[in-house]
Amino acid sequence: MSENKNPGRGWNGKGYYIALILCAAAIGITSYVYHQNTAAEEEVLLRETEAIPVGTMAREEDIPVIATQPQPTQISQPTTPETTTQPTEKTGMKVQHPVSGQEIFGYSMEALSYNETTRDWRVHNGVDFGAEEGTPVCAAADGTVYAAYEDDAMGSTVVIRHEGGYTTTYSSLQEELAVSAGDTVSAGQTIGYAGSTALLETTMGSHVHFSVTHQNMPVDPAEFLSLGE
Ligand SMILES: [Zn+2]
Repeated sequence: MSENKNPGRGWNGKGYYIALILCAAAIGITSYVYHQNTAAEEEVLLRETEAIPVGTMAREEDIPVIATQPQPTQISQPTTPETTTQPTEKTGMKVQHPVSGQEIFGYSMEALSYNETTRDWRVHNGVDFGAEEGTPVCAAADGTVYAAYEDDAMGSTVVIRHEGGYTTTYSSLQEELAVSAGDTVSAGQTIGYAGSTALLETTMGSHVHFSVTHQNMPVDPAEFLSLGE
């Protein structure tokens, strides 16, 4: 009886092990299949996630480029016609010499020149025209008298403002002036008379010290006077 039981138990034991092995094998196969499937699914997912951004990026690029590009060009175009015309020499301004007389001392703002009155070297911001006492001095161009005064260094002085940012100054005039600040003057109109009131230039005798500025910067009077030629 015990023999019957033993083989039976033996078979049962073997069968159990076989069943275990089969089970293990089955688990192994299913897990392999499962892994294969998930791997395949991941691959699909990867392909899909890769494909999505490419499409959306392309679409995103298209929209803003169309929206933003034409706007700046449309805005900037109406502003470009603005052109600033600088006050040029050829404005038709009538210019003439302020006094009949020879130039006795030249304009020199870039190099020092010797001043016999002060006995030193300095710049000279104008031109000196020699003229006898009382010779009429006239406005070099149309304008408005900005100042008519006695300057400590340059004597009786008249300053006239003109169009285009020009200013002309006449110094070493006789004390009696022909105009006052605020007067409107035209080219050729007498504003004063040649004298010798400039303490900085007494050795020159009677003369007119004539200087010009453009936008408050010194200008060679010869350049300004050439506008009238
Ligand atoms: Zn001078």
